[in-house]
Amino acid sequence: MTIAGRTSAESRQPRRPAAIAGSSMKTIIEPFRIKTVEPIRMTTREQRETILQHAGFNLFLVQAEDVLIDLLTDSGTGAMSAEQWAGVMRADESYAGAKSFTRFEERLRSITGFDHILPTHQGRASERILFALLGGKGRVVPNNAHFDTTQANIEHSGAQAINLPIPEASDPTNRHPFKGNVNVEALEALIADVGADRIPCIMITVTNNSGGGQPVSLQNIKDVRRVCDQHGLPLILDACRFAENAYFIKLREEGQQDRPVADIVREMFDLADGATISAKKDGIVNIGGVLLLRNADLLRRASELLILTEGYTTYGGLAGRDLEAMAQGFEEVLHEDYLQYRIRSTGYLGDKLLEAGIQIVEPPGGHAIYVDAKHLCPHIPQAQFPGQAVVCALYRLGGIRACEIGSVMFGGKGHAPPAMELVRLAIPRRVYTQSHIDYVIEVFRDVKQMAPELRPLRIIEQPPALRHFTARFEEL
Ligand SMILES: *Cc1c(COP(=O)(O)O)cnc(C)c1O
Repeated sequence: MTIAGRTSAESRQPRRPAAIAGSSMKTIIEPFRIKTVEPIRMTTREQRETILQHAGFNLFLVQAEDVLIDLLTDSGTGAMSAEQWAGVMRADESYAGAKSFTRFEERLRSITGFDHILPTHQGRASERILFALLGGKGRVVPNNAHFDTTQANIEHSGAQAINLPIPEASDPTNRHPFKGNVNVEALEALIADVGADRIPCIMITVTNNSGGGQPVSLQNIKDVRRVCDQHGLPLILDACRFAENAYFIKLREEGQQDRPVADIVREMFDLADGATISAKKDGIVNIGGVLLLRNADLLRRASELLILTEGYTTYGGLAGRDLEAMAQGFEEVLHEDYLQYRIRSTGYLGDKLLEAGIQIVEPPGGHAIYVDAKHLCPHIPQAQFPGQAVVCALYRLGGIRACEIGSVMFGGKGHAPPAMELVRLAIPRRVYTQSHIDYVIEVFRDVKQMAPELRPLRIIEQPPALRHFTARFEEL
């Protein structure tokens, strides 16, 4: 039976610390011991009240040391292993042809099967280089759902970014096992409509970050590959969470249960002509990225751009120690006990919130849980930011920092209100233990209790663009 399938049996168990249960109903423990600790500074409710007022009710303006549990993002916030830190010391900082680059290159080659590995400083640098080559006015780039930096880089080149998720993706209660899939029919219709010559590549984001961290099935990647072949188009993976996606395939897709995750990962990359990767996710490092390309001409031109703006091809804007940390992180992320713990612990948070009557985007995603704030605060109109009200309550009551993904982020002049008002709880890798997560669940139960009293907000100060980072609010 799959881990996902155990949830209901497990929830019938009396509540023991246990909750992350294995096949014999034993706890799926964190598969690591803690060697270095970073103290969390405790704050009182009164202190947090003052901090929140000073920050204009915007958690991006709160200092990290004033946060107890920081679930703002899983990007670059993971904990490195002893072996990664050892690599940092071992690193070769030579300008060209460093040993650290060779180790990084060999590791990525063996995982992905790509011959040529370009390091970049993070995911968006890979995107910028790729779309400087493939983008441009009049072009159209489809994806299951573009991440915001991908969309911005495509649009910056003059091209248009199109999202083609399956219909199930927009219903928070729909438990489709591969809610990240590309809508293949809509893709074929788009190609028929705009013409293949205007489409420089087709992208698939695994897992689909903008769509709730939902996975894409191997079958769906194969189906998109078939469409690419029919029209002679390259397939590019946004592979930031390739390992989490492959583990979901192992758990949920027919016939995949007995395969090593590394095999599934290899098959995913074999289907692609290129990939952009932010190593701040499944590379389990604090900074780093990768660009993979098979086409020799494209690769040559990408290398030239890399040298122009990032750095020489054997360091790509990073230090040798970053390359060492990535080489090791990309290996550790494929350990199946790690992936079991990772996916199950995110699922645990999601299941417990559902049990407490808090609607989330179901089923739980790989890296984050998305809470439906409209459902929690039906008394707050969208224009008065129900998601931000929940974000403020989480901080007030428990010092938890989460991220609004709703009208604050996507609204404003000239924008239609978004379909969903979500609060994202992103889980950093290997950072928090189960008792931290149990604490988050307890705070959420309190938030739910006082939800009818949560106060609507009004923006009193905002910049012209990307207002969620710096806007200031007042409570109504
Ligand atoms: C984080 C992310 C990116 C961008 O990566 P950065 O390292 O933040 O530049 C691109 N795509 C997806 C799906 C991501 O999650």
